[in-house]
Amino acid sequence: MVDAFRAEVRAFLEAEWDPDRYPEERGPLAGGDTVGSWHRRLQEARLVAPHYPEAYGGRGLGMAERLVVTEELVRVGAPGPGNVIGIGWAGPAILAHGTDDQKRRFLEPTLWGDVIWCQLFSEPDAGSDLAGLRTRAERDGERWIVNGQKIWSSGAAEADRGILIARTDPDVPKHRGLTFFLIDMHQPGIEVRPIRQMTGESHFNEVFFTDAVVSDDDRVGEVNEGWRVVVTTLMQERINLSAGRGLLWGGGRSFEEFWEWARAAAPRDRVERDRWAELYVRHRVIELMRTRVVAGLAAGGSPGPEAAVLKLLTDSFGQDTYEAVVDRLGPTGMLGPGDVDDDVAGWQLGFLFSQALTIGGGTTNIQKNILGERALGLPGDIRVDTGPPRASTSA
Ligand SMILES: Cc1cc2nc3c(=O)[nH]c(=O)nc-3n(C[C@H](O)[C@H](O)[C@H](O)COP(=O)(O)OP(=O)(O)OC[C@H]3O[C@@H](n4cnc5c(N)ncnc54)[C@H](O)[C@@H]3O)c2cc1C
Repeated sequence: MVDAFRAEVRAFLEAEWDPDRYPEERGPLAGGDTVGSWHRRLQEARLVAPHYPEAYGGRGLGMAERLVVTEELVRVGAPGPGNVIGIGWAGPAILAHGTDDQKRRFLEPTLWGDVIWCQLFSEPDAGSDLAGLRTRAERDGERWIVNGQKIWSSGAAEADRGILIARTDPDVPKHRGLTFFLIDMHQPGIEVRPIRQMTGESHFNEVFFTDAVVSDDDRVGEVNEGWRVVVTTLMQERINLSAGRGLLWGGGRSFEEFWEWARAAAPRDRVERDRWAELYVRHRVIELMRTRVVAGLAAGGSPGPEAAVLKLLTDSFGQDTYEAVVDRLGPTGMLGPGDVDDDVAGWQLGFLFSQALTIGGGTTNIQKNILGERALGLPGDIRVDTGPPRASTSA
């Protein structure tokens, strides 16, 4: 079944993928938050999210097929679908916990890129300790009034909707008083302020809510039971950020591009040869691990500890590969984008962005805690703060 699907995807890409026909899809950020004509072509072939039900724009297949699409796109150097938070984070939360009305209103438009999404989880004092968040949502009849602040919200400046987790009961233990919403970003109560990153881009943002409004129709799951929806989203996140991409995430370069570069550059000495060979071996191990995750999913399993291990392996691998290139470039590796050609600029951008890999989607330390506790059965992390949250800043 997966093999037949892979053959179909290969045939499609053979016939359709031509970078000259989709010039706006070039560049390291293609396949990010926004969507272009290549994304829409993929959706016409129902390849953006084959794991979504047919009724909502997918094909009713599994996660394994979804990963096959990514692998094949990487193989031919084509960008993946855009609207990544909509398809990889918001959609699965709505599918698992949303109402029929929410599924109808949001899922298919998300796959076509007509509704672009951002994720409004992290706050200045709540990242790893997400359940300690303090943004408040207070009920006002059939709507909720939101006050507070989020941070590191990728793509919020371009988003139409945000998946928002907010505190709706400050008097119960912190995981219990949270509710999950789908908030309209186009409203006066929401201010988005871009954050400049060391890559020079402003991919993520601060988001301020001042009496922002969200309808009760846009609440996902029960009041005060938003943590269950968050857990669904975070499980998907791990898959999306590792197994889902198959790239040296960041500059959008693939390992094949690194290897081609390495062959042309030729190692200067045995130390460098060793370093590059080790990267090759790690790449193979990651590929085999990804195959194992795909096979597990194809057999009906759900993303388990392998997905967390894969994220740990791919994050440091991406960083080390970009670093190997930048080290070899020597002083050129430190020049600004205007002073080097596009190829070098792409490696530099990847090197700078890859530093985010071990933070986003749960830091390396947190992934190791999860693995230690849930996979290896080691004693739990020290938890001193399981009671009601600290006082809200916005109440
Ligand atoms: C590229 C990128 C995109 C992002 N996009 C989004 C987005 O769209 N939406 C969103 O909501 N968030 C987003 N984030 C935020 C991300 O989820 C948080 O940065 C991450 O969860 C870590 O939280 P923090 O930055 O508050 O660090 P902290 O939680 O303050 O952690 C600081 C350090 O302490 C360590 N630490 C904390 N707790 C423990 C513990 N219990 N045990 C051991 N070590 C610990 C951490 O590992 C880290 O090294 C993004 C981040 C990045 C880098």
